[in-house]
Amino acid sequence: MSTWEPVIGLEIHVQLKTRTKMFCRCRVGFGAEENSQTCPVCLGFPGALPVPNRTAIEWVVKLGLALGCEIAERAVFARKNYFYPDLSKGYQISQYDLPSCVNGNMIVSLAEGQHEIGIVRAHLEEDAAKNVHVGGRTGRIGGAEYTLVDYNRGGTPLVEIVTAPDLHSAEEAKRFLQLLRQTIVELGISDAEMEKGTLRVDANVSVRPAGSEVLRTRSEIKNMNSFTHIARGIDAEVARQIEVWESGGEVEQHTYDFDVGSGALTARRTKEEADDYRYFPEPDLAPVEPPAELVDRLRFELPELPAARIARVMKKLDHDRALVLVTGGLDRLWEATVAAGADGVAASNVIANQLVASGARPGAVDPTELAKLVDARERIPRATFAEALGKIGDHGFSAEPYLAMESVSDTSELEPIVDAVIAANSAQVEQYRGGKEGLLGFFVGQVMKETKGRADPRVVNELVRARLAP
Ligand code: ADP
Ligand code: MG
Ligand code: ZN
Repeated sequence: MSTWEPVIGLEIHVQLKTRTKMFCRCRVGFGAEENSQTCPVCLGFPGALPVPNRTAIEWVVKLGLALGCEIAERAVFARKNYFYPDLSKGYQISQYDLPSCVNGNMIVSLAEGQHEIGIVRAHLEEDAAKNVHVGGRTGRIGGAEYTLVDYNRGGTPLVEIVTAPDLHSAEEAKRFLQLLRQTIVELGISDAEMEKGTLRVDANVSVRPAGSEVLRTRSEIKNMNSFTHIARGIDAEVARQIEVWESGGEVEQHTYDFDVGSGALTARRTKEEADDYRYFPEPDLAPVEPPAELVDRLRFELPELPAARIARVMKKLDHDRALVLVTGGLDRLWEATVAAGADGVAASNVIANQLVASGARPGAVDPTELAKLVDARERIPRATFAEALGKIGDHGFSAEPYLAMESVSDTSELEPIVDAVIAANSAQVEQYRGGKEGLLGFFVGQVMKETKGRADPRVVNELVRARLAP
């Protein structure tokens, strides 16, 4: 049996969080009363004239620069003609053959090394309104009794990002999306939340014999609402296609909805895929010609991007830890703490778990003091450690007084406490000896409580275990 290589290209839509819509002054927003944020332009009344949103144009350039794209000196809006109730104008305004950004890339860090994913284009368009299907099972159109249309979303600035078919596993697609999302969030141009629909992803999937360079027929999967679901949808489609090829069949180009509950891929009616949009340049809008000075300024203002930071953190940590630090805005503190002498993994665990839980603001933490605490975390009492982390964001915090607190590991001091706890909990002792070994933690917890968290938990563990042995 030959082995198969998955080939995946993504089409991603991102709603920009500008104050107003793409071509009118209506507010962009989520959760306002239905059809309250509309006007003749975004409702498509005859004769209404669109005026482009300057901020949206700047933001797509900003995103394009972050994705290493060439920025078009001249981009053109076109009309994409089709009829559907969510598009009252009868056409969607979208950049087509001359998009704002082309030919970019983003580097995804994998355990095996770095992988460059091509960005074919990123262009500006307007979102359609929202159809709300009432009745029926899942809020989808199938089986619904009727459909309502909320035009508030119509005309919201949308960026479409198209990747090259450079992704080769569901896991890689997921990582790419995590990175892209973080980049978008850090640029401040969108909250990019799949649950709210401000980030939407369609996956194009094909498979080919490993080693082959030829692209085979792809299918497209839509309607997935989290990165995990996307990865599962891709895996399901890859498995389906391999089976088709191996049983002597042929994969056909088709669009599927992925149902997470059942894991099923349901084909959409081909009618919805008709590709005859009769594009032509929008006569009511001038081409987008961002001045070179603007592009230069935006390029200069770009912050250091998550892809570069994840790659750097991954020199010392695995991807999952690196991602948690970078997406949590914790990587700079982690780096400084490691530079101050802390162990990388230990610092990452302390920062990503305990420090965040303690509510300290990462920016307020002195990495030198944090490094001292991380270093001492096994030596000082748990309660002391937790107390120190709770105060570490305070102005002028010093770790010294906490470091002086050694935890109690002296068995002669701990034994009487262990004995007292055992004597006071005879019912649990019986259960433990009867095989309920999970109760060990209960006894250890009691001793820690008696010592106000100062006992060394490893020593307590050993003592309790020895004392409870039948
Ligand atoms: P269309 O113009 O029909 O939308 P594109 O060439 O723009 O097609 O490709 C759309 C998306 O599909 C892109 O993300 C691209 O990378 C991906 N893609 C194209 N061909 C394949 C293939 N054979 N296998 C997987 N993905 C593909
Ligand atoms: Mg396309
Ligand atoms: Zn409007």
